[in-house]
Amino acid sequence: MFDFMDMGYDEPGEPIASGPYIPDGGECMRCGVCVSSCPTFRLFKIDQETPRRRIRTISKILVENLPISAEERMHLDNCVQCRACETVCPSRMAYGQLFDQAQAGLKINPGWLAKLAFGLIERKRWRTRLMPLLAVYLKSGLQKPLRSTGLLKKLHLADAEALMAKPALQALAVSYPADGAKRGRVALFTGCIAEHFDRETLQAAIKLLNAIGYEVLVPPKQGCCGAIHQHNGQSAAGLMDNNIRVFNALDVDAVLHTATGCGAMLSEYQTDDEAGQLFRQRLYDISDFLLKHWPDDLQLTTSELKVVVHEPCSQRNVLKNQQAVYALLQKIPGLSIAPLPDNSICCGAGGSYMLTHPGNAVQLRALKQQAITAASADVVVSGNFGCAVFLSTNQGRVEHPLQLLARQLPVT
Ligand code: SF4
Ligand code: SF4
Repeated sequence: MFDFMDMGYDEPGEPIASGPYIPDGGECMRCGVCVSSCPTFRLFKIDQETPRRRIRTISKILVENLPISAEERMHLDNCVQCRACETVCPSRMAYGQLFDQAQAGLKINPGWLAKLAFGLIERKRWRTRLMPLLAVYLKSGLQKPLRSTGLLKKLHLADAEALMAKPALQALAVSYPADGAKRGRVALFTGCIAEHFDRETLQAAIKLLNAIGYEVLVPPKQGCCGAIHQHNGQSAAGLMDNNIRVFNALDVDAVLHTATGCGAMLSEYQTDDEAGQLFRQRLYDISDFLLKHWPDDLQLTTSELKVVVHEPCSQRNVLKNQQAVYALLQKIPGLSIAPLPDNSICCGAGGSYMLTHPGNAVQLRALKQQAITAASADVVVSGNFGCAVFLSTNQGRVEHPLQLLARQLPVT
C-alpha cells in the first residue's frame, strides 16, 4: 500500500538536473514530490492519476511481471506523457522511458484506425496520395453536412478532422541556397505530417537559415521521428534507422529540427553505435543553432507587438532549451516578450493524446486558454507544431516563433 503523503495541489517543485542514471520502475520512493507537477492530478485530484501511482503500475509490468487491472491500465493510459514529473523527481526516475517500455510490454494490438494512422505516418507514398483528396474535401464545403450526419464521430475521425488545415501539396525543394556568402550547409528535419500541415514554419526556418548564410538541404527520404509509434507501444526502430541513415549520408554541419516534439524524440534515439552517435552529435534544435550562428550585422526590423511564449513540455522537460526562444525573439527590436503563465502545465495536446483522450485534452486546453486570454497578447508562439494546432482551434492562431522572426527579416 502507498502512504499518500501529498494529496494537495501545490506549485510544482524546482526541476532537478537530469542525469544518466536510469532507475527501474521499482525504485520509486513514493515521496509524492512529483504529484503537484502532474496535469492529470490537476484535473482529477485522485492518487490514481499521479506519476507515483503510474510508476507502481509500470513496476508491475516491467519489474514484478504481474497482471494489471483494467482500471490501472486506464489510469496509466490517461498519462499525457508531458514528463513534468521527471524534472522534479529526486530519484531521477526516467518516467518517459519507463512509460514507453511499459507500453511495449503491454503488447498493444492497435485497432483499424490506429493501424491506418501508423501506416500513414510510416509511408510517405500513402500520405502524398491522401493529401490531394483531403485538400479537395476541405475545399468542397462537405465538412458541415458530413459532420451533421454523425459519420465522422462514428468512425472516431471527428476530433482529427476538426484540427485539420488545408495541406500543402507540393514537396519542398531538395536544396535552398544561402543568401550571399555561404557559411555552411545544414539539413532540415521535416518529419511526416508537418511537411504538409506546418509548411509556414518550415519555410520560415529555411528563410532564416539562408539569411544567416547557410544552404539548407531537405532530404526527401527522411521520415517520421517515431514518437507516435514509441509512445503507443509500437516499434519505432525502422523509422529511427531510416532517419539515421538518410541524415548521416549528408555532408552537413548540422541536422536541425523545428518541432520540439520531434526534436525530443530524435535527441533520445536509443542507439549507441557509431551511426547513432554521429546522428546525435550533429542534431540541434533550430533555435539553439540560429542563436549560436546569428551574424552580428543582421538586424531585424522593429515590431511593437506583445508576444507570449508557450513552452511545450517536450521543450521544457526534455530539450530544456526554452531560453533560446526568448533570446532569439529579443533580436526583434521593440517586441514585448513574456512567458505564458503556468507554462509548467501541459496544454493537453500530448502528441496523439488530443485524439486518443479528447475529453482530458480539452479540459487541459481550457486551462491554457484562460492563461492566454488573461495575458491579452497580440501573438502567442509555441515551438511545437502539435501544441500550436491544438491551441489554435478555439483561441486564434498560435504560431511558431520562427514565423515571427522570419517576418522581421530586412527586405533585401
Ligand atoms: S516518481 Fe519520483 S518524485 Fe514521484 S513519488 Fe516516485 S520517487 Fe517521488
Ligand atoms: S508524464 Fe505528465 S501526465 Fe504523465 S505522470 Fe508524469 S506529469 Fe503526469
